[in-house]
Amino acid sequence: MNESIPYGKQYIFPEDIEAVTQTLLSNWLTQGPAVPRFEEQVAKYCQVGHGVATSSGTAALHLACLALGLGPGDRVWTSPISFVASANCARYCGAEVDFVDIDPESFNLCANKLAEKLADTRRKGGKLPKIVIPVHFAGQACEMTAIAALGKEYGFRIIEDAAHALGGTYQGQPVGCCEYSDITVFSFHPVKSITSAEGGMALTRDTELAETMRRLGSHGISRDSARLHHSADGPWYYEQQELGYNYRLSDLHAALGFSQMRHLPDFIARRRQLAEGYREALKALPLRMQQPLPGIDSAHHLFVIRVARQRRDALFQSMQQAGIAPQVHYIPIHTQPYYQAMGFKQGDFPIAEAYYQEAVSLPLFPSLQDEQQRHVIQVITQTLGS
Ligand SMILES: *Cc1c(COP(=O)(O)O)cnc(C)c1O
Repeated sequence: MNESIPYGKQYIFPEDIEAVTQTLLSNWLTQGPAVPRFEEQVAKYCQVGHGVATSSGTAALHLACLALGLGPGDRVWTSPISFVASANCARYCGAEVDFVDIDPESFNLCANKLAEKLADTRRKGGKLPKIVIPVHFAGQACEMTAIAALGKEYGFRIIEDAAHALGGTYQGQPVGCCEYSDITVFSFHPVKSITSAEGGMALTRDTELAETMRRLGSHGISRDSARLHHSADGPWYYEQQELGYNYRLSDLHAALGFSQMRHLPDFIARRRQLAEGYREALKALPLRMQQPLPGIDSAHHLFVIRVARQRRDALFQSMQQAGIAPQVHYIPIHTQPYYQAMGFKQGDFPIAEAYYQEAVSLPLFPSLQDEQQRHVIQVITQTLGS
C-alpha cells in the first residue's frame, strides 16, 4: 500500500522549483523584488489596490486587526467553525472574542444569526463588536452583502478570512476585491489554493490601511520622510514610532507563490471538477453536503460531508483502513480548552457543535487522480450504502 490519500496537499511544478532556485542564486533572499511582484500579482488578480505579503495567514490576520485599531476592551466576532487563527488574532491584540453560530446548510457564519445577536446585544446594552471576521468556509464566500449592511448599521469593521477562498468569486467579483470589507486575508499554507510554503497576504482598497499593515509587519519602522518625527540624520535614517513585528515574507517564499499563482485557474478548475464528481456520486447516500449558493463560485478548498453522528466515526475509520486520510474541519473554536477557560461552554453554539459531530473532509486537491477519487467514493458508498 502506498501512502494514504490526504485530504489536501500542494502541487509543485518543475517551474516552481526553478523560480525558487533562481531567487536563491539572486542577490536577494529577502526584501528583494520578488515580494512586491507577488503582491502586485495577487492584488491584480483580486482587482484590489493593495496587497501586503506576510509570513503567514495568521500574521496577516493579526496585522489586519492592528491596522483597524483593535485593542484591549474591544470585541471581535467570528465563526466557531474555523481554524483557531480566526479568533486568536483578536487575542493577540488583547481584545475579547465572541462567536456567531453557523448556518446549517452553508456551514458559514450565519448572517441572520449575526443580525439577531447584534440586535440582542444592543437591546441589552452589551458591547458590540469592533470587528467581525466572516470565514469563507471550504472556499464558499459568506453572505457579504448582508454582513456589510449590518456593518454600516452597527458600526463594525470587516476582515474577510479568505484563507480557503483564493480563486473563488462573490456576485461576479473575485474574493479579495474588498467590495464588502476593509481587509481580506489569504493563506498560502500548502493545503490552500496556492502555496508559498508558509505565507499569507492582506488585501485592501485603503492606502492608509495598507501602509499601516506594511509598517507594523516590519517592526513599526518608517523611512517615509513625510512621517518622520525628527529630521533625518542621513540617508541611513529610520524611525521606529510604534511597536511592530517581523511578519515579512521572504523572497524565496514570494517566488514560489508568484510561480504558483500562474496555476491558480487550473487548480480551481480541477478542484471544481472533483467536487462535482463527489456531489454527483454521493447524492443518493444518507449524507449532507455544503449547499452551493447562487452568485458564488467556491474555490473548493474542502469537500465536507455530514453523516449521522452514530456513523461518522465508523466512516472515518473505514476510510483510514482503506488508505485514505480524511480530516475533520473544524473542532468548534469555543470548545478548545483555551477558549473554555474564558467562559465558553459546550452548548453555546449548538449548530456548530452538531456540525462537528457529523463532518468529514474528503480528499480534494488538484493532483488527486480520478482513480483515487473513485476509491474514496467506493469506500463511502460501501460504508453508508448498506
Ligand atoms: C489556514 C488558515 C488560517 C491561517 O493561515 P496560516 O497561513 O496557516 O497562518 C486562518 N484561517 C483559516 C480559516 C485557515 O484555514
